Amino acid sequence: MSFTPLNQAKDKYDVIVIGSGLGGLTCANRLARAGHDVLLLEYHFKLGGLATWFKRKSHVFDVSLHGFPYGMVKTCKKYWTKEIRDSIVQLKDIVFDNPQFSLKTTFEKTNFSDILVKRFKIARSVVDTFFETVNSMNFYDDLAMTTRELFEQFFPGRTDVHRFLMEPITYANGSTFDEPAITYGIVFSNFMNKGVYTFKGGTDKLIGMMGDELQRNGVTICTTAKVDRVITEKGKVTGVAVGERIIHAPCVVSNSGITNTIYNLAGRDAFPAEFLGRIDKVKVNNSSCQVYFGLRPGETIPDIGDLLFTSTAAEFSSEEMLKMDTRSRTFSVYYPKTRPDGKEDYTVVASMNGNYDDWAHLSAAEYAKAKEEMIERCFVDLERYIPAIREKCDWVEAATPRTFNRYTLHTKGTSFGTKFEGLDVSRNLFKALPGLFHVGSVGIIMSGWLGAINYGVIVANDADAYLRS
Ligand SMILES: Cc1cc2nc3c(=O)[nH]c(=O)nc-3n(C[C@H](O)[C@H](O)[C@H](O)COP(=O)(O)OP(=O)(O)OC[C@H]3O[C@@H](n4cnc5c(N)ncnc54)[C@H](O)[C@@H]3O)c2cc1C
Repeated sequence: MSFTPLNQAKDKYDVIVIGSGLGGLTCANRLARAGHDVLLLEYHFKLGGLATWFKRKSHVFDVSLHGFPYGMVKTCKKYWTKEIRDSIVQLKDIVFDNPQFSLKTTFEKTNFSDILVKRFKIARSVVDTFFETVNSMNFYDDLAMTTRELFEQFFPGRTDVHRFLMEPITYANGSTFDEPAITYGIVFSNFMNKGVYTFKGGTDKLIGMMGDELQRNGVTICTTAKVDRVITEKGKVTGVAVGERIIHAPCVVSNSGITNTIYNLAGRDAFPAEFLGRIDKVKVNNSSCQVYFGLRPGETIPDIGDLLFTSTAAEFSSEEMLKMDTRSRTFSVYYPKTRPDGKEDYTVVASMNGNYDDWAHLSAAEYAKAKEEMIERCFVDLERYIPAIREKCDWVEAATPRTFNRYTLHTKGTSFGTKFEGLDVSRNLFKALPGLFHVGSVGIIMSGWLGAINYGVIVANDADAYLRS
């Protein structure tokens, strides 16, 4: 894959896509396939956005390849390539370990329902009705019911069941008991379709394949190209300012966060007052912390499962999961099967939810200390599953909400875009400012790899219609 230096980009394109997260990549690809002349501008030196990886010593660490729903198979075949689809494989061993229960599941509906019936002693009819209710949720439902109310309706007082149902989803999209039940229901039923999947070959292989496909379809790609401003004239988009250059296009799709797009790229003044009222209600979602462990060549990890939801907290609490010293984390274990064509590499990534504001104002010394303490807490937890893990590691490193902010520019380092109300603003942006579209993981429902790609397709259709009108 070769990129075009910014100074060699043309002065005018049909459409400019700002940002190369999975939403931006998919949108650029679809628009190029529809015959448009597309320029993709990415701030980072590589493509992928949060779908990223990095190399240390002999290790490759995946940042957001922990699991996605089966829907990726169809989506990648339909909107990307058969080769991409063919690398999607199931993760079969999902482990829960907390003071309320320890169990293993494939996270498929049959297996999950059986656990609810046999282990948690819930009547089969209640489990079936719960699944039917969750599966039938859609955007147009009454949004008044919260996830807490949904759970209390079916499993009153059963905090163990609530934890089993909710913990993975809070990691997947930051949602809480007090948000509309649909924010839970859509993500949960996506996973319950056929379990949890991953990309064999790693994030680097996926993004490499996507970059190649973009170039086959004629997209011009410039990396290390930070767009400073979206330019508007007479209430319409006319291009972007990037470094020293002004590049013209009647249509701009921003994969930068929705709040960035509005406040920093287009500017509040570009929008009508009525729309600003809606914008002001948008709250960004939480961010993440991670600790990456690389095993010295020759060291191995026994099979302890692929994805471990672990906690020593007495009960599930989304507030507890956001604390700097949370006792809840997921461990993603990457065995050599993750990259069968690479060197024999074992890595573990601990992921936690995190609040940007807790980390943002620490001094350099406080920040370094807080990262060390987080690493230590993860080591203590990981030792319960992999004894002597400290001696086996030759690389340990931490990322915080500040890291995610630095690499993606997202407001407060948000990992999952915005809360639910952001979706409405994102979907209607081009009506408020003709020519400007937003794509990316907003509004929970579009979060994650599958949501970002599917949203890329939806926005490409909107932009295509606009360009042809
Ligand atoms: C720690 C973590 C774990 C996750 N785990 C999973 C998981 O297991 N499964 C799953 O499905 N999802 C997971 N996710 C979520 C998933 O990674 C994201 O939802 C998805 O990748 C977001 O894609 P996006 O299209 O919204 O763009 P992003 O990935 O947010 O990318 C936006 C891009 O825009 C670029 N950009 C921003 N501003 C500018 C500018 N001014 N000029 C040029 N470029 C700009 C950024 O550099 C970035 O490349 C995880 C996320 C995190 C942080």
